[in-house]
Amino acid sequence: MRPSELLIPTPAGLWCPPADIYIDPVRPVDRALITHGHSDHARAGHGAVLATRETLAIMALRYGEGFTGERQQAVPGETVRIGPVDFTFVPAGHVLGSAQIIVESGGLRIVVSGDYKRERDPTCAGFEPVRCDIFITEATFGLPVFRHPRAHAEVAKLLESVRVFPERTHIVGAYSLGKAQRVMALIREAGYERPIHVHGAMEKLTEFYLSEGAVLGDIRKVVAAERKSLGGEIVICPPSAIQDLWARKFPDPVTSFASGWMRIRARARQKGVELPLIVSDHADWDDLQATIRETGAGEIWVTHGEAEALVHWCGTVGLKAKPLHLVGYGDEGEAEPTGTEPGLEGADAAAF
Ligand SMILES: [Zn+2]
Ligand SMILES: [Zn+2]
Repeated sequence: MRPSELLIPTPAGLWCPPADIYIDPVRPVDRALITHGHSDHARAGHGAVLATRETLAIMALRYGEGFTGERQQAVPGETVRIGPVDFTFVPAGHVLGSAQIIVESGGLRIVVSGDYKRERDPTCAGFEPVRCDIFITEATFGLPVFRHPRAHAEVAKLLESVRVFPERTHIVGAYSLGKAQRVMALIREAGYERPIHVHGAMEKLTEFYLSEGAVLGDIRKVVAAERKSLGGEIVICPPSAIQDLWARKFPDPVTSFASGWMRIRARARQKGVELPLIVSDHADWDDLQATIRETGAGEIWVTHGEAEALVHWCGTVGLKAKPLHLVGYGDEGEAEPTGTEPGLEGADAAAF
């Protein structure tokens, strides 16, 4: 089988015709394989979803139990055969439950990495490199300017600021799924023991992480009426909330944002971020290259992000590469999902 017969980029997402499934489709489809729970990859309204137990649970939390007609759990490392194609989910190190998907048929092996990172994350299983013929990668931070510092060093900056400004509330913007809980876990690893306060929008996901064993310590939901009393405390909220009126009710707030984008100072200034923290859940420029080499793939397909720069680099080291120009991915969590889409009742049974 030729690679172009096994996986095809379409407006709905990556389509595997022999199995008739889509991976991370951005439009409702009959059968979807989902790499992880971020809203740009995991959407409601499919006929059937195959994903890890954690991703299925996250989708149900965000969209409601009716987010899909059928659901099937993918156990990491176990192969599911659909038609003539074998699919295997393998940890991607991006957020809780995140997976790469190995797509294998007729001796051809393609790995769809989804979003991934290589830096250690105490809240999810680490990325496992898989040897393959074709590696499909994201390139969110696929430019040489993106070299992420170690996350624990960035969190140390936050704790130092808390020490220097003991009367001010430190408000940290972080994506509700993954980044927020990773920052909490890193704060705990640094030895900070006071309660961490969270915006109501991330309460359910944080409770899910706790129920899955994440070590986040004493987490408390912010009560609007008590904001004035939270001087000197750490508050974690969705990125959009740091500029809200909501944030201004805390005593003399220090505005912070944990994101790979904080590597760009102008972006921090533009968002009014006083304390930028470069904490990313995506591979940086060096890790994209290292990962591509580790897979041993001779051909690289780039899904989204800075595809041109990464494709160019592949050419310089003798790898075949092309951008897939998939649309609808990137900046997950900036826009929070709105809810379950209607019309799921008539979905087919036994979809996989
Ligand atoms: Zn993601
Ligand atoms: Zn993404």
